[in-house]
Amino acid sequence: MIEGTTAEEPAEILIVDDDPDVRVFVRAVLESDGHQVIEAGSGQEAIQRLRIRRPSLVLLDVMMPAMDGFAVVHAIKREPGPFVPVILLTALDDPASRAKGINAGADEILAKPVHPFELRLRCRAMLRIHQLTEDLHAANKRLRALARTDELTDVRNRRGLRSALTREFRRAERYGGALTVIAFDVDRFKQVNDMYGHAVGDKVLYAVAQALKRGVREVDVVGRVGGEEFVVLAPETPSHDALQLGQRLRKAIGERVVTMPAGGEVRVTASCGIATLSEVHARTPEELLGYADSALYRAKALGRDRCEVAELVLDEEGKRLPPPAPMTQKMALSPAE
Ligand code: GH3
Ligand code: MG
Ligand code: MG
Repeated sequence: MIEGTTAEEPAEILIVDDDPDVRVFVRAVLESDGHQVIEAGSGQEAIQRLRIRRPSLVLLDVMMPAMDGFAVVHAIKREPGPFVPVILLTALDDPASRAKGINAGADEILAKPVHPFELRLRCRAMLRIHQLTEDLHAANKRLRALARTDELTDVRNRRGLRSALTREFRRAERYGGALTVIAFDVDRFKQVNDMYGHAVGDKVLYAVAQALKRGVREVDVVGRVGGEEFVVLAPETPSHDALQLGQRLRKAIGERVVTMPAGGEVRVTASCGIATLSEVHARTPEELLGYADSALYRAKALGRDRCEVAELVLDEEGKRLPPPAPMTQKMALSPAE
């Protein structure tokens, strides 16, 4: 092994060449550096393999029957998914061919026959760029998750809930699914803060979020939309199941016990409002949430620690009326937020 030529991490590299001798040569060089090598004898085969599993690097011959390297690199770079660097290995070393390769999307061009030392160096540089793009991709993913997560309770924040609600609403409209929205508001939560302090109040909010998270299915979404107000999205949940779910979650909140630093325990209850799309025929995600919200406030008015189900409201002529405006702006997931 020549010092300074080995990539830090072993990688999966795809060699595309119709000449088996070239594949044997390149494989030997790369395997001696600890890389894992996959071979394809044609452009079509390369694209198929790439769709099944994306390598960290592609070494691509230009002159091949049926589909040449220019067409292959063009196709590879149009595939959706993370960045895959492509090095063209070609006997066509004239300026026009080199320009054609780069214009087709290649990241590097090496003239055949290539010296093993040069091959190692260029692969190493390309793998380093590939690693940087992977790191960036992972960092973006973490940031996106952070941007939709509520810091205090670790469930979705308003932004995260809004995107999930929009997605589920569209899906339910398209496929006729029974999307249910359940709104929860902790009862007399101001008293918890007043009596035990804000820090205990925060612990209670965390406990409520945990109760909701533990009580729902994998496909359901839990979010905190305001101070002590939570929303659960339950796709494919018709109204009779929705009421059961709401009651179960409400009880789970009531059973949670928060212990205080100085000893002693705090329990809270919550009120809940349920709206199922197929029942209330909401026209927008906001309207569906509005129905859940108005049911929630009915639950408050009827004594708290209970669930109420939203019903379709019709006027005298049998026309559907929109839900009453949310009584608190906190519940409105306005895009301005
Ligand atoms: P109701 O049963 O009618 O819902 O009464 P409530 O006291 O729960 O309702 P209200 O809306 O009057 O009070 C909500 C309280 O929630 C007031 C506010 O100080 C508190 N709050 C809002 N956000 C947070 C938070 O992030 N942490 C803590 N600890 N308290 C919060
Ligand atoms: Mg409230
Ligand atoms: Mg409250």
